[in-house]
Order: sequence, then C-alpha cells, then structure tokens
Amino acid sequence: MKGFMTPQPIRITAIYDDGEASRHFTFEPTNSIKHTAKPGQFFTLVIPGYGEAAFTYLSLPDAEGRFKALIRQAGSLTTELFKCNGGDLIGFRGSFGNSWPIAQFQGKRTLIIAGGIGLAPLAAITDHLTANKNAPVGLIYGSRLPADQVLKYERSTWHMCMPIIETF
Ligand SMILES: Cc1cc2nc3c(=O)[nH]c(=O)nc-3n(C[C@H](O)[C@H](O)[C@H](O)COP(=O)(O)OP(=O)(O)OC[C@H]3O[C@@H](n4cnc5c(N)ncnc54)[C@H](O)[C@@H]3O)c2cc1C
Repeated sequence: MKGFMTPQPIRITAIYDDGEASRHFTFEPTNSIKHTAKPGQFFTLVIPGYGEAAFTYLSLPDAEGRFKALIRQAGSLTTELFKCNGGDLIGFRGSFGNSWPIAQFQGKRTLIIAGGIGLAPLAAITDHLTANKNAPVGLIYGSRLPADQVLKYERSTWHMCMPIIETF
C-alpha cells in the first residue's frame, strides 16, 4: 500500500496564463483516490529531478477530485512545470496545513485585503464566504501594475456577490 509520503500521479487538464509570469492550472486525479481539502490548506507538486514545492488550492477538489492552482514561475520545479502541456502527468502530495477558522467568520462582516498573486491563497475562502454568505463580504485588491493582476475570471464571479475595490 502506498503511504502518505508517496507522490500520486495527477494529470494537468487545463492551463492558461493569468498575470505576470503566473499560470492557472487545473489538475485531476488519475486513480480512484480522491482527496479533500479545506480553504487555506496546501498541497505539493513533485517533478522527479526538479524537486517538490508547495502550492495553495485556488479551488478545492470537486466531486471528481479536480482542483485548481495559480502558480508563479520562481525556480527549478515551476520552470519545468511551465514546460508542461495539458495531459501531462506530475506527482502530487496533500492536503497539508491548517485551514482558515471558517466558523469564526460566521455572521461577521469580512473584509479581504490582498495584493498581486497574494490573492491566490485567499481565493478558496473568498469562494466559501461568497457562497455561504450570511454577512457582508468585501475585497480590496491591489497590484503594482494592471498586468500584475491575477484571477480575472474569479474576480468577475465575485463581483456579482460582493463589492471589490481594485487599486494600482
Ligand atoms: C504553504 C505554501 C503555499 C504556497 N502557495 C503558492 C501558490 O499558490 N502559488 C505559487 O506560485 N507559489 C506558492 N508558494 C511558493 C512556492 O512553493 C515557491 O515559489 C517554490 O519555491 C517554487 O519552487 P521552485 O522549485 O520553482 O523554486 P526554487 O527553485 O525553490 O526557487 C525559489 C526561489 O529561489 C530563487 N532561486 C532559485 N535558484 C536560484 C539561484 N541559483 N540563485 C538565486 N536565486 C535562486 C528563485 O528565483 C526563487 O525566488 C507557496 C509556498 C508555501 C510554503
């Protein structure tokens, strides 16, 4: 039986550029092993010969185990990942880390503040708060330049549920 330390193969199913040197990846499991995650948790990707690095869930695993991440090209692993195409297989481990204390947000007005790619780790909790809204939620999103903005699609869906102030 494979242990928790053993990377599982996952398939890249969709890729698109999203912000400066950042890419939006969708992954799906290649076996029946489904994993779960809570907003704020992270996973690791493994490419043999290029190492292992941690990434935040942009969207949590759905019923088929598909999930998304926004990844910035930084060094060894991410440079190799950016050479991958849809259909390629890489290694995955997770979920790891603590989640956001969701219960503490219930019934409280919440203001989310993020800059640049820092919006990615807040995407899953923003999804949760806008979907389970029982108090006002707002977002202030800053970036150095308009080209540094990420998550255009996600922000357009959040715009329908909450006020967003965008600054440069
Ligand atoms: C909990 C957690 C969640 C994260 N979530 C995300 C996420 O959602 N998206 C995301 O994009 N990142 C995320 N990160 C950051 C990501 O894990 C790092 O960017 C990771 O180091 C990338 O791995 P790499 O092998 O590509 O880079 P590495 O090779 O580890 O390089 C990391 C840094 O070192 C620099 N470097 C590398 N080689 C050299 C060299 N020879 N000389 C000088 N500098 C060098 C690189 O420029 C880079 O800045 C997260 C990190 C943590 C801990």
